[in-house]
Amino acid sequence: MYILKTLSDLEKFKKEHSNKKMLLGLVPTMGALHAGHLALVKAAQKECDQVMVSIFVNPTQFDQGSDLDRYPREHERDIALLKDVGCTAVWVPDTSIIYPEGFATHIMVEGPARQWEGARRPGHFSGVATVVSRLFGLIKPDFSYFGEKDWQQLQVVRRMVIDLAFPVIIKGIPIIRENDGLAMSSRNRFLSPDERTKAPSLYENLLKAREKLRKESKTQHILEETQQALQKAGFDVDYLALVDGHSLASQDRWTHTSRLICAARLGSVRLLDNIGEY
Ligand code: AMP
Repeated sequence: MYILKTLSDLEKFKKEHSNKKMLLGLVPTMGALHAGHLALVKAAQKECDQVMVSIFVNPTQFDQGSDLDRYPREHERDIALLKDVGCTAVWVPDTSIIYPEGFATHIMVEGPARQWEGARRPGHFSGVATVVSRLFGLIKPDFSYFGEKDWQQLQVVRRMVIDLAFPVIIKGIPIIRENDGLAMSSRNRFLSPDERTKAPSLYENLLKAREKLRKESKTQHILEETQQALQKAGFDVDYLALVDGHSLASQDRWTHTSRLICAARLGSVRLLDNIGEY
């Protein structure tokens, strides 16, 4: 596996090891890799000749005073995992490579970025859109893989790629869960043992809510009941919403394109999860 650090490492790799006939798949990550990230790599390997993972903890997508400093950084372990799965290359750029002196461009997506995470974390999706654009510009992948775990992020990236006509195909990969249903996340390690036992009830409650939403045309009370059940289970619910899966606009009925999205805190850990029909 090629371990690339600088811009010239990346350029050399592109020059020597890729050509127009080979499909390059990119998996952008912030590291602290787990089976969810590796599922994206495996999906990429099925469709592409070469798979590159980028590891970059992007400061511009973190809220001020948030968990940027405590975000886990474990490059050696990540690189070993990627070698094991037969990834072609990993790019681990410094902040000065992604945001060099004089960097002055920020991408602002509206539409699907407006509400939910966008409203609670001002600047977050602009940070995501900007770093993803820069990665696309530098790496020029044919395909790029994103997890449905961050459902809204996936729709924001899709929107941006369409609007700005980036020559890349975006693929969304289903959520990988622990055996008890908790969506895998680099942040799960910050759950205390007690919080960890409570955490799976987020997904359990989403599953129960989906059962009810499928059957009933009045949905508001189902959302309220689910929110109450989550609070009872120890969650501080940030939002629980029934939305159109592409536009992220609120819906009042469950359809085949609906998504039930939720952000909820257990102690200091903010968990995200979502569920749809497919
Ligand atoms: P992150 O390193 O948290 O920025 O995540 C990098 C990519 O992995 C994003 O596209 C995430 O949506 C995706 N991802 C993270 N956790 C999971 C999971 N449990 N299942 C599927 N994809 C995931």
